[in-house]
Amino acid sequence: MSNQELAGILQQQNSLLNRVEIVLAENQQLRTKFQELTEREERFRQIAENVREVFFVISAKTDEILYISPTYEKVWGRSCQSLYEDPQSWLFAIHPEDSLRAIATIETQFRTGDDFEEEYRIIRPDKSICWVRVRAFPVRDVMGKVNRFVGIAEDITKRREAEEALKKSEEQFRLTFEMAPIGMAISTLKGKFQRVNQALCDALGYTKEELLELSFPEISYPEDWEIHRNLQQELIKGEESDFQIEKRYIAKDGRIVDTLLKVAVVHDPDGKPLHFNNQIVDITERKQMEKQLLHDALHDALTGLPNRALFMDRLEQQLKRSQSQENYLFAVLFLDLDRFKVVNDSVGHLIGDKLLIEIAHRLEKSIAPTDTVARLGGDEFTILLENISSKSEATVVAESIYHTLTFPFNIDGYELFTTASIGIALSSQGYEKPEDILRDANLTMYSAKEQGKARYEVFDCSLRDRAVQRLELETDLRRALERQEFEVYYQPITSLQLGILSGFEALVRWNHPTKGYIQPGDFIPVCEETGLIVPLGSWLLQEACQVARNWQLKYPEHPAIRMSVNLSGKQFRESELIEDIERILDETGLEGKFLKLEITESLLIDNLETVTEIILSLRKREIQFSIDDFGTGYSSLSYLHRFPVDTIKIDRSFVSQMQADQENSAIVKAIITLAHMLNMDVIAEGIETTSQLAQLRLLQCEYGQGFFFSKPLNQQQAEDLIASSPKW
Ligand code: C2E
Ligand code: MG
Ligand code: MG
Repeated sequence: MSNQELAGILQQQNSLLNRVEIVLAENQQLRTKFQELTEREERFRQIAENVREVFFVISAKTDEILYISPTYEKVWGRSCQSLYEDPQSWLFAIHPEDSLRAIATIETQFRTGDDFEEEYRIIRPDKSICWVRVRAFPVRDVMGKVNRFVGIAEDITKRREAEEALKKSEEQFRLTFEMAPIGMAISTLKGKFQRVNQALCDALGYTKEELLELSFPEISYPEDWEIHRNLQQELIKGEESDFQIEKRYIAKDGRIVDTLLKVAVVHDPDGKPLHFNNQIVDITERKQMEKQLLHDALHDALTGLPNRALFMDRLEQQLKRSQSQENYLFAVLFLDLDRFKVVNDSVGHLIGDKLLIEIAHRLEKSIAPTDTVARLGGDEFTILLENISSKSEATVVAESIYHTLTFPFNIDGYELFTTASIGIALSSQGYEKPEDILRDANLTMYSAKEQGKARYEVFDCSLRDRAVQRLELETDLRRALERQEFEVYYQPITSLQLGILSGFEALVRWNHPTKGYIQPGDFIPVCEETGLIVPLGSWLLQEACQVARNWQLKYPEHPAIRMSVNLSGKQFRESELIEDIERILDETGLEGKFLKLEITESLLIDNLETVTEIILSLRKREIQFSIDDFGTGYSSLSYLHRFPVDTIKIDRSFVSQMQADQENSAIVKAIITLAHMLNMDVIAEGIETTSQLAQLRLLQCEYGQGFFFSKPLNQQQAEDLIASSPKW
């Protein structure tokens, strides 16, 4: 072998070796690459098999599953093997409600090679439901053709559930907000409405659209917005987290809407104030009710005038003002209707009430708008005249009230007349308490009544002194009965035709331990007011009946003595009157026909029905009745026939004027004639002269009483008179 040949072989060998080396190197590279590939695949596997997501690879040509990570088994609840064997099996796992949508997307993806993303539910073999989110991306070969899809599927059940829950709670909030029976609004920090509910719209009379154009300041009551805004500022500053106030709004139609507003501030995650949540409760009705209650508490239900409480309150304010302001003068008028009871009793309470309402109107018209008329109750009204210049300003008002009441009231077809007695008290007396000035006005009113009603009087200190005396009198009177300070005096009543004694009128006297004898005119009215007249009257009746019976027994030859006893109205209102009289007759043994009860005309007229009833019942015992002081109350000759009485006692004012005055004799004559026509007999009171006696005899007057015959006598003197069988 030549060197050349050898060299050639060596060269070949070298190049072979080179080739081998190249091949080896290439092999090495391939091995490394393969190694790398294997490692990458292993890493992929590891990743794929260790994450929560399911990885999969699908052949684009055959739909065949090239790879599915084992998490599939956890999520789908099926084995990976089953999927390899039946690639369609995962389509069947899709929830029927989602399957159409999911399969349509998958098919589109296979056709177009687009990205795929879909969320749907799958049903596991154990029937549990799982939400999955599946995404797949096409993988293209060098030619750009899609040969497979790589995908990821994840279990999103938890997220979906959370989302559902959130949706639900959002819906709930929306419903709560929208359907809430109270007004709700979300407003900006400046008060502009961002969201409002129907209840708020209804309360304010706006539509949602209108309200959303507005802001709190535009619909708030101006003063209230001030408060609202200031409190909001505090919320923004973070001093408070919420507040609650009562607040007024102006509704679209101008109405004022009272509300309870609760405001809470809402912050963003960084703690910056975002907006306000407002709850607005319409409390207009409650407020109205409160106002009504307050009004009712301070006003009289019948007339709508202020009541005592409100009057006293205003009076107190006036008093304070007069105490702090020199020369400040105000007046209180105390007004009581005269004989209002008669109206009530004759035409009924309903019309009486209407009359009170009308009177209230007239009173209101008689005063300035700044003054107050109040109804204290019953037929009592009070008037507060503020800031007057003098006493005469108050008397002018009293006169104008007097004048306004002179016009008749036309109520339900009745024409009614009324008068009032007014007492005026002025603040210049220097009062400490409102009750004191009212007390003095009241006192003065009583004095006006005593002076003859239908008039006014202004308080002066003597009135208070009189009141104090009167109080003393009351206290003394209460003790007088038990201390037996009362005595009965007897004034003879004579038969004018026969000129002999026919009976006596029992008249009470009070022998006061320090003041001596007190006349009935000075204490009987007080006894009537205090009710003391009932036990006093009963005691006197017992005494008089007993004395009459004793005289009858002691002087049997003398025509039987009759006893007249005065009865007051108060006694008639006492339920035990009848039993009391019957008991006394039984105990004393006096026959009813020898007892005559004297009642006044006004008592009869004011209580005609009840008094008649009592009279008729006592008549069964033959007790007689006479009308005392006839002619002084009403000129009521026309009433006379309605009175169930036996005797008329002509008042002494007519008798005393008989001579001087033709008219009076005519009246006396008329009374006697009428009485006789009605089968009544007549006693003339207050006969003092022979000529009176002569005239009355001529007029056929049956009986007489008066100083001409005798003054009232004590028991012994009266007995002596009987014993002497006088003749006149
Ligand atoms: P009355 O029932 O009209 O009694 C007659 C009054 O006239 C008596 O006054 C009597 O003293 C007086 N009088 C009698 N004759 C004359 C006269 O010729 N001239 C004058 N100027 N006066 C005469 P008295 O006793 O002061 O009684 C006044 C009134 O007091 C009585 O008027 C009667 O309404 C009432 N009264 C007296 N006692 C009682 C009583 O026991 N019970 C009740 N309820 N009232 C009584
Ligand atoms: Mg009398
Ligand atoms: Mg009389």
